[in-house]
Amino acid sequence: MELVFASHNENKVSEVRKILPPNFKIISLNDLNFFDDIPENEETIEGNAIFKSNFIYEKFKTNVFADDTGLEIKALNNLPGVKSARFSGLDRDSNKNINKVLTNLRDENNRKARFKTVISLNLNGELKLFEGIINGKIAHKPVGNKGFGYDPIFIPENYNKTFAEMSLAQKNKISHRSIAINKLISFLGKVYY
Ligand code: IMP
Repeated sequence: MELVFASHNENKVSEVRKILPPNFKIISLNDLNFFDDIPENEETIEGNAIFKSNFIYEKFKTNVFADDTGLEIKALNNLPGVKSARFSGLDRDSNKNINKVLTNLRDENNRKARFKTVISLNLNGELKLFEGIINGKIAHKPVGNKGFGYDPIFIPENYNKTFAEMSLAQKNKISHRSIAINKLISFLGKVYY
């Protein structure tokens, strides 16, 4: 089946393509020649995911899902959370975001954090949400050069390396996004088979 993934982030699109079984054809916004930014001004991760999938559904009248992700750090009252992309400014610079997190946590022993993804699916006019959470902690310095975003400073629970030190396959086995995507797949499986 064909589904639009309402994202311009080719890193995320390729992560998702690798998680989904081959009978799902994922079409990105770039594939649709839609290059405008979709506003992400809602107060919550859920709100942003819903806004994005509704926005593309209204524009293209197609089955679509959107995701929104945030890194929630306990000692920072769950910041950056919904503001993860623009934590250090409007330029959405991952290195600056990482530096801001590390600076804010400099004298902090509680490094607990979690990634949370919410997927919003518009399927045949109905809306459904899927959540994926992975617990972990924030490293004291960035390590690894794989992945993207906050990957170099996030160490998942029960591991001693960051997401950025893992292969994509290894990250996909445990990540917030794959947990949410697997819930989406299992829902679509029930609807279509
Ligand atoms: P978005 O909601 O996917 O746009 O992501 C919000 C912020 O979280 C951006 O700064 C992303 O780089 C970051 N982010 C999203 N997913 C991941 C991930 O899997 N690893 C690390 N950072 C991520």
